[in-house]
Amino acid sequence: MSEQRTHLEPTARRTADEPLLSIDDLQVHFHTEEGTVEALDGVSLTIGRDEVLGVIGESGCGKSVTALSTMGLLQSPPAEIVGGSITYDGTELLDLSDEELNEIRGDDITMIYQDPMSSLNPVLTIGHQVKEPLLAHRDVTEEAAHERAVEMLEAVGLADAERLMTEYPDALSGGMRQRVVIAMALITEPKLLIADEPTTALDVTIQAQIMDLLTDLREEFEMSVLFISHDLAVISEIADRIGVMYAGNVVEQCDMRTLFESPLHPYTRKLAESIPSLEGETDRLPTIEGTVPELINPPSGCRFAGRCPQYIGDVCDTVEPELATPSSIDGDQRVACHLYDDERPDEPPWPVGAEGEATGDDDGARTGVDGS
Ligand code: SF4
Repeated sequence: MSEQRTHLEPTARRTADEPLLSIDDLQVHFHTEEGTVEALDGVSLTIGRDEVLGVIGESGCGKSVTALSTMGLLQSPPAEIVGGSITYDGTELLDLSDEELNEIRGDDITMIYQDPMSSLNPVLTIGHQVKEPLLAHRDVTEEAAHERAVEMLEAVGLADAERLMTEYPDALSGGMRQRVVIAMALITEPKLLIADEPTTALDVTIQAQIMDLLTDLREEFEMSVLFISHDLAVISEIADRIGVMYAGNVVEQCDMRTLFESPLHPYTRKLAESIPSLEGETDRLPTIEGTVPELINPPSGCRFAGRCPQYIGDVCDTVEPELATPSSIDGDQRVACHLYDDERPDEPPWPVGAEGEATGDDDGARTGVDGS
């Protein structure tokens, strides 16, 4: 197989220390009959080379919109990217034409989705579909593509790969289909794989197998991964670092160990508490009362203010907190919360679950988090 790549050369060769992907202040709106939905409100994330970044958040928080923006797959209209930057390996993706983006998409950057059938065409054979990215992006013969497709099906743990090449997707189980989709996504040996809830539609046993497979393949292919999930336990199996999203914002970004040992944002703290412990018995896991705010005319301050157990007053309602590393924190942990503003007199971080200690002017109306 030829190693020749056809995608655009980056405008400047990056160094190993620079992120492979930088999403900076990304703002995405959806124009609907009801009004403008401010789906992403300045999302910033970075993914290093050979790094797995987990992105977690509730349904509708903007995880998938972030992924689709990166792939250039947002449907416009109704979607509109109104600001920000997505830089991949030195190339600004938002400046590329569809044709230029097509050279990267499906080759250097590939994606797997929650429902494997959304990636598979039911009227084309598995072989046809697994070979397709290679034939589209590389100068290879049909024979070489076939050979590589069989190798990839075997690499993702599918037995009798030659026979499978002639099957149609409806002959396969859900777990087998997702393995085929992973084979399709990796056949071009991408530098970045975006996995959007890749195990959510699968039963628990198959989910564990797919996570093991992705963990192995991530190392074998030395690729970076943007792994999206609503399940912190799943993300913790594979991610090196994590970005926590809430209502169109990234509210915290840190490494996985830090997330569990010293989360800063009140929302992240509740997420960390929601992981079941193997030690001791828990009748009921903590939940966060309330609902995510409407993103048509969203709150002008912190979007978590209406549910926050550590709400500290007007500043939360009126000033949007910026994602930044607090001066009191060593390392690159970043948080968007006024609890860590430098001018606050009392020193963060407070211990997990210590809602009352941090809310000097809290009237208690906002501390109703189940289990706290
Ligand atoms: Fe938002 Fe204020 Fe709560 Fe921080 S303390 S999460 S800024 S409401």
